Amino acid sequence: MKKMQSLCLINGEWRAARSGSTIPVTNPATGEHLADVPQIDQEQVLEAIRSAETALPAWQHRPARERAQVLRRIGDLLQERQDECAQLITLEQGKPLRESLGEVSYSANYFQWFSEEAVRIYGEIIPSDSANKRIFVLKQPIGVAAAITPWNFPIAMLARKMAAALAAGCTFIAKPAPETPLSALFLGELCQEAGLPAGVVNLVTGDAAMIGSTLMASPIVKKVSFTGSTEVGKLLIRQSADTVKKLTLELGGNAPFVVLDDADLEKAVEGAIYGKYRNAGQTCICVNRFLVHESVAQTFTDLLVARTRALVVGNGLDEKTSIGPLINDAARDKVVGILQSASNDGATFVLGQEACAATSRFIPPVVISQVKPSMRIWKEEIFGPVATIATFRTDAEAIALANDTQYGLAAYLYSGSLSRALAIAERLEYGMVGINDTAISAAQAPFGGIKQSGFGREGSAHGIEDYLVLKYLSVA
Ligand code: ADP
Repeated sequence: MKKMQSLCLINGEWRAARSGSTIPVTNPATGEHLADVPQIDQEQVLEAIRSAETALPAWQHRPARERAQVLRRIGDLLQERQDECAQLITLEQGKPLRESLGEVSYSANYFQWFSEEAVRIYGEIIPSDSANKRIFVLKQPIGVAAAITPWNFPIAMLARKMAAALAAGCTFIAKPAPETPLSALFLGELCQEAGLPAGVVNLVTGDAAMIGSTLMASPIVKKVSFTGSTEVGKLLIRQSADTVKKLTLELGGNAPFVVLDDADLEKAVEGAIYGKYRNAGQTCICVNRFLVHESVAQTFTDLLVARTRALVVGNGLDEKTSIGPLINDAARDKVVGILQSASNDGATFVLGQEACAATSRFIPPVVISQVKPSMRIWKEEIFGPVATIATFRTDAEAIALANDTQYGLAAYLYSGSLSRALAIAERLEYGMVGINDTAISAAQAPFGGIKQSGFGREGSAHGIEDYLVLKYLSVA
């Protein structure tokens, strides 16, 4: 692997912190020190904001076709450098290399898809009530946009914000998560290689609260897109008030996975393994609660346990690994705490009870049954390789249980009857519903939630709209 980029990208230059302070980045699988990234000060964040402001007019007015070509080139470079990029993701994030490769290709898709969308930002002409008037609607970039991204998909969460913003004609500042800044900085190198002008993309690392509040307080930054915890999302909503900033928020989830009595159970378990254990259960659309019709609950549980037993926990660089480490010790402590409370609350551990006493970041996969809505494990986003199973009798009960959460990101539903599945899907209070499917994320589809999972959409034509504003021209 070539030397990793570990400096911030500000105004087209790679910069250290003025003070020289750094933050260490470590490999969650081994504890090995990977790099140190700058802990920049507020003046440097403001410099990044000003450079995005300076770069805006030229980028925004550049023909869409040319912007599209640069985006396409970034996507192509990601594909060309996929092995290097995937290895970096696994090193700093821990997920199995196979999944990292999937993340790189998923990220490249966003650049490719939005490069095709950049040339289709069409306005409108609306018939007027007066004979001598014309009404035109222009769609223009909102301006300087910022992103705050999490560690679970270090490159994909950035790619889907950055690609949409650049396609819309916005310039961009991003703050990656402190656990996984290196993949973001790698993407910054590709942006430069693809010919993106200085200042169009800026990448800053350092104190999250300081960078966040500086971005939020800046009148230059017109929009912030955030993926992360509901708690920080709520803080950003409060901080957005003073500058009336537009937000896109993709926050926590508590995804139900409903298995009806007519479901193909083999297929359901196949979907369950992907939807639950991918990224060691650390995704916001991970299944959090399996809700299974009581008549098939035993068979479903047996099949799930058999498949779960075969999963291999280990270092993501090892080809055999299906579940990598949790991101850090705090994440492990949170999962262990939730497991202990489930145990105290009387849930039944079908597999992996030893995880209740885990002291390592490598948590064995767990299957728990007899889970009830009163338990902490039902209410909280687990963010670990823990499958919880509850049962229901009627479709109405399944809908009520599925909706029994403050979150509304993704839900899954397995049934052999399309009309029954559609009737239930219409009643699920979620932004996304996978019917006989858990691989629901795609560049061309609108990703996002309702309720306390946030608002705004990423991906699809709706994703680009989030970076555009309407201007209506009344011509007399
Ligand atoms: P998690 O608990 O999964 O790490 P967070 O919401 O804390 O989720 O993190 C998501 C992103 O939000 C990261 O980039 C993190 O650094 C950033 N972040 C954390 N605290 C703040 C804050 N006070 N203001 C702005 N961003 C923050």
